[in-house]
Amino acid sequence: MNSRFKLFSGIVFLMLTVLLHGCNIVKVQSEPTYLPASVLRSDIKNGLSSYGNEQILEHSIFRPQFVDYLDAVNLENGSIDIVMLERAITTWNAVMTESNAWIEFNNMHFERLANVSGGDDYCVMINSCRITSADIAVVKSWSLVNSNELLRNIDYDSDYESINQPSIINSMDAGNAELNRTLKLIYNDPVGKKLIERCYQRGVLFRVENLEGKHGYYHHGKKMVVIDPKIFYNEFNTRYMIHEMVHAIHDESENSITEEVLAEIIGLDTQNRITGIPLELHPYSIFVQHVLHPEYGRLSMSNNIRASLDNIGLEL
Ligand SMILES: [Zn+2]
Repeated sequence: MNSRFKLFSGIVFLMLTVLLHGCNIVKVQSEPTYLPASVLRSDIKNGLSSYGNEQILEHSIFRPQFVDYLDAVNLENGSIDIVMLERAITTWNAVMTESNAWIEFNNMHFERLANVSGGDDYCVMINSCRITSADIAVVKSWSLVNSNELLRNIDYDSDYESINQPSIINSMDAGNAELNRTLKLIYNDPVGKKLIERCYQRGVLFRVENLEGKHGYYHHGKKMVVIDPKIFYNEFNTRYMIHEMVHAIHDESENSITEEVLAEIIGLDTQNRITGIPLELHPYSIFVQHVLHPEYGRLSMSNNIRASLDNIGLEL
């Protein structure tokens, strides 16, 4: 009995060891790297590991080449409904020899693409949805955005008179050394400087607060950028603060997909200059990711954010 028990407990121990060891291995393998390799925001978790690897575009009707094909279909047959789209996908897949180029039909992707230009034709019932030439034009314009060109287009010469660095901060947490250090870091960048100057002009306040899981947000009513202290942990989090500043320079309280995407692009682009380590920037993937996001995807496409950026010399 005793030896049986020993044998039994031995087996249990062995199984537990294997199990725990196995778990350990799985844990190590699946845990995301703590290096800031991904530019994903914490609130965008669609199971995508990076903007750059095209996972979001693979097999999706948002794949740039397939969008070109839809453009041709639309030119020939007019707006594309669900039946036409399914037919286009079948034709496309029959021609593509590489299975990784195959497109899969997805109701939600169709609905989002059909609504991407907004306007009167917003469809709720899938059967009434049509991908119009306007929708295709919006998507194509984003697919043509090249981050290098974006940088070149930025007019670095500010019309504003320089504000004394010590007085740049309308901070509720004026004594927060980390906040001040980060603001100065951003201020030393030409784009960051413009954003901070505009925030200053508008009387935007900055506050540090523990935000469960979020990096920051902008409160339009209070004109306040609220930042979680974890963004101070390393310079690769600076983009979150810059992102909120982009919201803070715009009067419009209604957010838009364009505002979110440009805030992401400016945040990462500015951070890249600050850190000197250029994390890859993929504007089209950022755009598609927002269009397919459960909440962001329901925002209107534009709210004139480009005009506010233009006002401070950021021509995007
Ligand atoms: Zn945002």
